[in-house]
Amino acid sequence: MRRISVFGSTGSIGVNTLDLLTREGGAEAFQIVALSGGRNVDLLASQARALRAELAVTAYPEQLPALRAALHGSGVEAAAGPEALLEAADRPADWIMSAIVGAAGLAPGFRALRHGTRLALANKESLVTAGPLLLAEAQRHGATILPVDSEHSAVFQALVGEDMDAVERIIITASGGAFRDWPLERLAQATVAEASSHPNWAMGQRITIDSASMFNKALEVIETREFFGIAPERIEVLVHPQSIVHALVGFNDGALMAHLGAPDMRHAIGYALNWPERRDLPVARLDLAQIGSLEFRAPDLARFPALRLAREVMAIGGLAGAVFNAAKEAALDQFIAGRIGFLDMAALVERVLAEMSGRHGLGNVALSLDNVLSADAEARRLAFEMTHN
Ligand code: NAD
Ligand code: MG
Repeated sequence: MRRISVFGSTGSIGVNTLDLLTREGGAEAFQIVALSGGRNVDLLASQARALRAELAVTAYPEQLPALRAALHGSGVEAAAGPEALLEAADRPADWIMSAIVGAAGLAPGFRALRHGTRLALANKESLVTAGPLLLAEAQRHGATILPVDSEHSAVFQALVGEDMDAVERIIITASGGAFRDWPLERLAQATVAEASSHPNWAMGQRITIDSASMFNKALEVIETREFFGIAPERIEVLVHPQSIVHALVGFNDGALMAHLGAPDMRHAIGYALNWPERRDLPVARLDLAQIGSLEFRAPDLARFPALRLAREVMAIGGLAGAVFNAAKEAALDQFIAGRIGFLDMAALVERVLAEMSGRHGLGNVALSLDNVLSADAEARRLAFEMTHN
């Protein structure tokens, strides 16, 4: 039986992952090693019971008594806190889903690679903050990282059997999020509730707001650069409101290979679960005649400065990705808390990047888990200071 762990099992990607595992036979078909979640310990406990997991971990120590109570009599071990997450990642597994949201997902995923596992990586923040480090660790231990972001899964699939030397460009699509057609003046007034509803995809709140600001696409451009090792100028973003075409790969003979599918994350998760095979997945089949037409347009960098910032981050390299992501997470916290406006997020990220580039010179730094995590902490501290005086 395949041994499987799911980090972030109570989130949007986690629940979709468990849905697929359950459809494939659940505890009868897989040996579930560890599941992890945050404050939603009742859901975590019911998942662990249903799949007869060996271990359930909440990220928050103060939730441990509640988790223990919810697991009483089930035989599932309970644990809590960042160290417990690392210990869970140390338990050998054949396939591990990394679906914690934010930079908190980096350390457990990194640790799991030691065991030469297959790491299905939904946590794009890992690649943005520490891409070269993660890829080197995977190589050192013979582990495989499989993309779960829909665009990157699409590119990965379009590249099967192809030679990267023949790739001219990679185009990732963006729905444009909740505010695709909003003018700048209206964006300045956008509320958390308005930013939290996505036209096409059902996702966690943070990535949904990041879609509205295009910070999600900015992270994904960097993710593309890191994962596929392609030069930044060969990566394009294309606004495509229907979210049917997920990505395209352009080759040196002029061919453009597109990946199409219904906007359902179970496709990308299932592809990573079954790779290198394909198996039947419970996603809607497209009726293109009924869809009729697909629209494409260029992104508007004036309304969505996050995309411009992503280019600057790639040009700097080194620790810039860690700073960018952490400042973005801190700005998002401040926006959700009602302290800053929607457009202030990009302005804050830009200020933090400029300040930290001035202090340290972020490029040309050999990455380690330590310097990535301390750059992350410093960027969050700075963002906090900048919004609290
Ligand atoms: P979510 O908010 O729905 O779930 C996040 C999960 O992480 C939950 O299990 C939560 O308990 C856990 N968590 C939160 N904070 C934590 C912390 N500090 N330490 C440990 N665990 C913590 O998020 P999501 O939408 O499922 O996204 C998860 C990851 O997948 C993100 O990196 C996101 O960018 C990526 N992703 C998501 C989608 C999607 O459709 N939702 C698509 C592509 C990529
Ligand atoms: Mg995506």
